[in-house]
Amino acid sequence: MNCQTLRQKLAEYVGEMLPAADRDALSAHILGCTECTALVKPLRDLACREVIDSLADYLDGTMSGADSRSLALHLELCTECEDYLDAYQQTIRLAKTSSEPPCLDPPLPDALVRTVLAWRNRPPEAR
Ligand SMILES: [Zn+2]
Ligand SMILES: [Zn+2]
Repeated sequence: MNCQTLRQKLAEYVGEMLPAADRDALSAHILGCTECTALVKPLRDLACREVIDSLADYLDGTMSGADSRSLALHLELCTECEDYLDAYQQTIRLAKTSSEPPCLDPPLPDALVRTVLAWRNRPPEAR
């Protein structure tokens, strides 16, 4: 793939209309070509901040199609945000795990409770 092909295919790439093989070739070209890296830089510069700010919407699927595609492209091109996404998803997983009800001690059996109460109600000399 050359730079010209890439420029022609970039819209399809962003629109996720390219077959996987083309997408890979395109990503590979971008990563190896400073000129094309500069070309897609505005997409990257969609700003890591914006990506991070809207990551929750992105993961919820509440983001609009166009936004989520440019975000997906950014994630594909930006290792920092990819790492952030990983960490973010891990945090969500941990949060879900820890929000499970804590494992409570099983309640005391009635018989034991009755024995203790009976013992406590005995006259002092019988203890
Ligand atoms: Zn290029
Ligand atoms: Zn980024």
